[in-house]
Amino acid sequence: MAPQTSPLTDLIAALPKAELHVHHVGSASPETVARLAARHAGSSPVPADPVLLADYFTFTDFAHFIEVYLSVVDLIRDPDDVATLTYDIGADLARQNVRYAELTVTPYTSVIRGIAAEAFCEAIEDARHRVARDHGTELRWIFDIPGESGLPAADATLEIALTQRPDGLVGFGLGGPEVGVPRPQFAPHFAAARAAGLHSVPHAGETTGPQTVWDALEHLGAERIGHGIAAAQDERLMAHLADRQIALEVCPTSNVRTGAVADLAEHPLPQLVAAGVPVTIASDDPPMFSTTLLQEYEVAADLLQLDATGLVELVRQSVRFSFQGDAAKAALLAEIDAVQR
Ligand SMILES: [Zn+2]
Repeated sequence: MAPQTSPLTDLIAALPKAELHVHHVGSASPETVARLAARHAGSSPVPADPVLLADYFTFTDFAHFIEVYLSVVDLIRDPDDVATLTYDIGADLARQNVRYAELTVTPYTSVIRGIAAEAFCEAIEDARHRVARDHGTELRWIFDIPGESGLPAADATLEIALTQRPDGLVGFGLGGPEVGVPRPQFAPHFAAARAAGLHSVPHAGETTGPQTVWDALEHLGAERIGHGIAAAQDERLMAHLADRQIALEVCPTSNVRTGAVADLAEHPLPQLVAAGVPVTIASDDPPMFSTTLLQEYEVAADLLQLDATGLVELVRQSVRFSFQGDAAKAALLAEIDAVQR
């Protein structure tokens, strides 16, 4: 997709931002993937040449996307790979003036490929500290259950979260497909994670209907919802989200690329906002969907017909609904205000 530009482009870039829905492996840039492919040349189908990689990253359909995604997962073989990936993501976010990001990390997929949970957590923490030191961007983790792997993955993810408990861990999530993966089965895992002080942030209502969002609220204690766009089909649910101030993490380009919505013109973001549902704009798997957080703000500003004031308010929303402490939120909001003046 060609990058959109608007009168707000410079402001979008200049504003300090928070990114609340972005996946770890899904954020691997072609450059990072090329480096990892070169490191493991001969044992991976992924090309190490960035030019060939651009073709490799052109998806024919959602199944192809999953295939490519998993081939990148297969390149993450040791703690150095984890640290390289994580550090590069932090640097990419910093280049967009993202000052705080909650990265959805799936330790299970690395642990079953032979990386010890402790080493995995040390690697992401090491990268987190280096990103903060070198780029001034704060990374935090949401450990998510890969839903397609079912209860064994849920058990393992919870155990990793609770026994390793890296300092950057703030939330517990649930990703992967929704069809055939009912949310209520994970209620005990979310209850245990919440009892341990982790925030509940499951994906729901991305590719299925509003009932999945209700399930995430009622059975998983969701404090924010990954995607949740199906809420637009249910007035009572939108009123509930507005009333309880439960934000949806909306990733417009992702929704089009995965076929969750037919095209941007049909994206329900305007209905959600009109109903008073809090939303945060996010990028999901940006290089894989040929987007960036900057681009997602362009799209959102266009869909919502925002002026500069409206855009700043949208950017502030991500800070407000983040899991930072009040002092850190206030500091970032003050920096946003300083740009706006
Ligand atoms: Zn996601």
